[in-house]
Amino acid sequence: MNEMSHIRNFCIIAHIDHGKSTLADRMLEITETVSRDKMHPQMLDTMDLEREKGITIKLQPVTMQYRDYILNLIDTPGHVDFSYEVSRSLAAVEGAVLLVDASKGIQAQTLANLHIAQEHNLKIIPVINKIDLPGARIEGTRGEIAKLLNIKNEEILLCSAKTGAGVEKILEKIITDIPAPKGDRAGDFKALIFDSVYDEFRGAIAYTRVFDGTVKSGEKIKFLSTGKIELASEMGEFKLEYVPKENLKAGEIGYIVTGAKDIAEIKVGDTITHDSPTSLSPIAGFKIPRPFVYASFYSQGDDPSLLRQSLEKLSLNDSSLNFTPEVSKSFGQGFRLGFLGLLHLEIIKERLEREYGLNLIVTQPQVAYKIYHEHGQEKYEEPWVRLEIITPEEYVGGVMELAQSRRAIYLDTKYLGEADDSYQARAILEYEAPLAEIIVDFYDKLKSISQGYASQNYEFLEYRKSDLVKMDVLIAGEKVEEFSRIVPRARVQQEGKNLVTRLKELIPRQMFEISLQAAVGGSSTSLGPGKIIARENISAMKKDVTAKLYGGDRTRKDKLLKKQVKGKKKMKKLGRVDIPDSVFIDMLKS
Ligand code: GDP
Ligand code: MG
Repeated sequence: MNEMSHIRNFCIIAHIDHGKSTLADRMLEITETVSRDKMHPQMLDTMDLEREKGITIKLQPVTMQYRDYILNLIDTPGHVDFSYEVSRSLAAVEGAVLLVDASKGIQAQTLANLHIAQEHNLKIIPVINKIDLPGARIEGTRGEIAKLLNIKNEEILLCSAKTGAGVEKILEKIITDIPAPKGDRAGDFKALIFDSVYDEFRGAIAYTRVFDGTVKSGEKIKFLSTGKIELASEMGEFKLEYVPKENLKAGEIGYIVTGAKDIAEIKVGDTITHDSPTSLSPIAGFKIPRPFVYASFYSQGDDPSLLRQSLEKLSLNDSSLNFTPEVSKSFGQGFRLGFLGLLHLEIIKERLEREYGLNLIVTQPQVAYKIYHEHGQEKYEEPWVRLEIITPEEYVGGVMELAQSRRAIYLDTKYLGEADDSYQARAILEYEAPLAEIIVDFYDKLKSISQGYASQNYEFLEYRKSDLVKMDVLIAGEKVEEFSRIVPRARVQQEGKNLVTRLKELIPRQMFEISLQAAVGGSSTSLGPGKIIARENISAMKKDVTAKLYGGDRTRKDKLLKKQVKGKKKMKKLGRVDIPDSVFIDMLKS
């Protein structure tokens, strides 16, 4: 029964919240993979954070039995930050259920994941979900999908993952429409790693799809990207827990306990073979995902070694997390972390705070610039992305204005579906844009312009030269490195002015006047302040706090002085100036 003709490997692809995890739950029930009394919502979302936030971060594969078929489902993360993982899991299957929320229609991530699925030549099974909702716009959504996939309306299935209506039909269609895996079971063993986890007791575990041959437990295996050889001490299938088996064969999806001590050795996208002299070519598409967004993390009040230990533990299970030590004059010992994107950053921050109880200061995220020198001057290249925005027609003007204000280059507009009385047409706007312009608050702005209806997706294009300058901030003549930022030359005046104005509001007055300056052209190698482009002054405090007290009341005076000293503990001394920690934190949030 585990003949290849009776196996179906598939994914569910959807925009966030369109019901992927809930649909998976219903499938687990119908196939009796979990009994009803053991069921809890979003069964395949393992991390607490995932359940709480309702987003899927890590893939959690599962093997189900339906009639006399083996159905292997890989759940994929729907978010752009993890598109490499999506791409690797789509490479491990033959088909995908494309799930679209009937009340929302096609969204940016639906499209992004569909593009990847089509690149892998997957059989697509389109399904409209949430048909039980009063706000379901079934016909409009049907029209969008039919146009997008160039298929007939009748080919699109309807379901409610909530009530279970229509879910069996999806399982039937998976069996009839998705091709059985192909492969040569008698050939040389070859498998794709589509995910990896670190298990405290067993070490690094590879999640694999076998394409050819068979691997047995106890055999030696080789990782093609590194040439490393390890012992496959155990293997088996995913039944919501690891269920060991003697072997894994072509067409199957399962896990291999590898003996590798470090998750970094089990690279997603890598190919595993037997340790044999025959040289097999790796499965196409392997790459090491590189971080695009950086931020520095400092722990407030905790021992800095605690932050290091926590990061080391987290990176056991997240090979895309990388960190290097960094010392800041204001915050002391910390780390510079690289992320795949902002959601990735947010997840790591929350996990550090929740699981390790850390009290963090996180600097404003920045993209990774490439610095080069020309005529003795520092110049920059920055990452550009291809940006896709889906929005109801009425917000197109607003969205275009926003994109233009962010240096985006307009490419094209397409339309999803045809407008009629019950259905408002939606546009897909395509741009090229600097990543730096969309990582900070672009998405929030987009949502507010479109009353929550627009969605975005982007993918990395290339590094391009841009006219950027480094803007420094000087407080009482001292450069504060934490406030430096790289900005487009055309906007530096405005940004400098905003920055010193904010600082003026935040820094309390002191016994003397404090100058606040924004400057450009100071290089990181020379100490010169460069050219001042904006300035503000904080005027001196009028009176000593103790002045109004009676000369004789020693105890009250002492108490007050003590209070002042205590207050100072939460200050950073910068030359003569005391800056409350909260100023740094507020500034970094901006
Ligand atoms: P995912 O992000 O794609 O995994 O989406 P989830 O499965 O977490 O679902 C997002 C939200 O939609 C949850 O609150 C679900 O309970 C809800 N939901 C999912 N499917 C349905 C459905 O068919 N009908 C209704 N009314 N709600 C649904
Ligand atoms: Mg989910």
